[in-house]
Amino acid sequence: MPETVLVTGGTGFIAQHCMIQLLDAGYDVRTTVRSVARATGLTALLAPHVGESVRSQIDRRLVVVEADLTSDAGWDEAVAGCRFVLHVASPLPLAMPKDESDLIVPARDGSLRVLEASQRAGVQRVVLTSSIAAIGYGRERDHLFTEEDWSNVDSPSIDAYAKSKTLAERAAWEFMRSLGPSSRMDLVVINPGLVLGPLLAGEWSSSGEAIKKILDRKVPGIPDLVFPLIDVRDVAAAHLAAMTTRSAAGQRYICALDAVPLREIALILARHYGPLGYKIPTRRLPKFLLRLAALFDHDLRLVVSEIGQPFLIDSSKIRRELGLSPRDVKEMTLSTADSMIRYGVVRDRTPADQ
Ligand code: NAP
Repeated sequence: MPETVLVTGGTGFIAQHCMIQLLDAGYDVRTTVRSVARATGLTALLAPHVGESVRSQIDRRLVVVEADLTSDAGWDEAVAGCRFVLHVASPLPLAMPKDESDLIVPARDGSLRVLEASQRAGVQRVVLTSSIAAIGYGRERDHLFTEEDWSNVDSPSIDAYAKSKTLAERAAWEFMRSLGPSSRMDLVVINPGLVLGPLLAGEWSSSGEAIKKILDRKVPGIPDLVFPLIDVRDVAAAHLAAMTTRSAAGQRYICALDAVPLREIALILARHYGPLGYKIPTRRLPKFLLRLAALFDHDLRLVVSEIGQPFLIDSSKIRRELGLSPRDVKEMTLSTADSMIRYGVVRDRTPADQ
């Protein structure tokens, strides 16, 4: 009989790709959502993306249950009988909230809820989705970042999201230490960079926002920013490998390519979609313009501190120990854009539509 893996946050971009890969790999999946009533279409959404043999069984093999990271209700039932838990859910808003605890509390306390329930239920391994935001933010970008690095939550330049991910991951490791060496349960952490790759429907994680804005020509130019990127299919593969690789216990893994300039993404889009009728902005946006705009926009103020900054990261550990060979920037950029056009997230300007 197939075993069941719990994936938290079944309405999310990364969680859905994890579920597809788990189902295709022969696992049954239980997933948590905040409201079952809002997730009635989940099976239909995933069905076209799984293998044919899974499709006919998906109603039986994918079960949706209710649990919110801010409440104890539902977590014991969610983890019951699972050997593996992928804890992916965490708030990832487009704009930072006025009160940073709106992000920190669900991220940190939610991770502890999932770990505590997993410990009570005899789960063997929890894989936690952390972020590069827990590694290289609120810090001078003066060295090659590795899994030894942590973001500085006391820095005035760190945003609420990076704080939430750092505090959640630190709390998770602290909880594991409190269990002591005799504990049967272990933890593996994946720290993805900015996640691109194919959307499964017309909803998108805020990480695709830059591509949407460029395709929609909602930005006058491209700021001098770099991002460590990774394709969502590789993030999901990393979660599955982290789940089953025995030696991964107690490890964190940076899951990203070297940081890529946003302008390189704009140029890839311009080369591919320009001939199809899209007017892709590619000129460099001067820093002074962003500084000016940042006077009126708090989120932009945090971005301005990143302008012109390098972000060197060492992703050799995940390649070496989990066997990941990530897709390149062109593939992840075009697959994001293609799916945004296919699902109507951005306007289709290709000749057939004109
Ligand atoms: P997403 O599509 O926005 O998914 C976030 C998920 O978290 C949603 O399912 C959301 O549920 C759930 N969630 C938020 N608050 C919750 C709460 N209080 N209780 C229960 N569930 C809650 O984002 P994603 O890109 O898939 O991100 C998934 C994970 O990857 C997060 O931990 C994020 O920090 C991490 N990550 C993402 C990126 C990236 O670039 N996308 C990079 C590094 C790390 P609702 O639908 O109900 O809101």
